[in-house]
Amino acid sequence: MRRKSTIACATSLLIFGLLTSCTQSAPPPQTTGDVQSSPAANSEKKLRVVATFLPVYLFTKAVAGDAAQVDILLKPGTEVHEYQSTPADVKALSETDVVVKNGLGMEEFLDDTIKSAQNTKLKVIDASKGITPIGETSQVVKTGQEAGHDHDHSDGNPHVWLDPVLAKQQVTTIRDGLIAADPKNKSKYEANAAAYLQQLAALNTEFEQTLKPFQDRTFITFHDAFPYLAKRYDLKQVAVVEIPEDQLSPADVQATVDAVKQFQAKALFSEPGVDNKLLNSLSNDLKVTLRPLDSLEAGETDPQYYLTAMRSNLQTLTQAFK
Ligand SMILES: [Zn+2]
Repeated sequence: MRRKSTIACATSLLIFGLLTSCTQSAPPPQTTGDVQSSPAANSEKKLRVVATFLPVYLFTKAVAGDAAQVDILLKPGTEVHEYQSTPADVKALSETDVVVKNGLGMEEFLDDTIKSAQNTKLKVIDASKGITPIGETSQVVKTGQEAGHDHDHSDGNPHVWLDPVLAKQQVTTIRDGLIAADPKNKSKYEANAAAYLQQLAALNTEFEQTLKPFQDRTFITFHDAFPYLAKRYDLKQVAVVEIPEDQLSPADVQATVDAVKQFQAKALFSEPGVDNKLLNSLSNDLKVTLRPLDSLEAGETDPQYYLTAMRSNLQTLTQAFK
């Protein structure tokens, strides 16, 4: 069970391991104490909330506004899928009222960290509560060193936040969790959530209408992060290519290129900041332009960043399927 997100996201780990640019593109390092909702001193004690990583932080911050103090546990760009918690994480969870997680196996470190924190009053909001996970949706092409690994995908894919409609569901779940933990600010949470949900609904409409004209919506990716997005808008991920973090031999590169050729995908998506010999070689041989699609595991901590990054993803999809 614990291996599930490893599988779904093995590629992301490897890509992030390989490419320091992912980390470089992230904002300056932040400790959990840096991301405070408001500098204004409030005589009343605010609810303390810790969100595990960027997408759930963005949604939680959007709902909380200034009514609660929201911190992020893993700074943007940290590899969540294989994360090992630190004593600082345990301390953060021992001092907070609420922790918000994405769930679906994304935060494998969290259960043990919560146990170590021994915070009997801690409330956990599982943002994916009620969402049915998607399992493996397309063929996985492994390069040399990776071949032969047997992965277990039984927990499904955790990247639900990349579907604006499921993002709305996560925001709603977070809203209800914050209200349960802090009923006196109910009206603030409701108003903040309503405004953000409206923006997400508009984003969904944009995706639907903009993608409608395109016939061939097939793509290949290197991080299995987009099955929910694909399902929502009728895109077809035909293969996931797993890239090892070690140096690839020319034979490995050629074998992967050959394996991917059969899929005849219209588009090839990497992630922002990724530059890799295998990817470039694939792109050249398949005569398909390599474009970055953002999984939002790295980026800015303003809640509007979700909308900005997703609109940029929509633009990428439009160019790719043209
Ligand atoms: Zn991922």
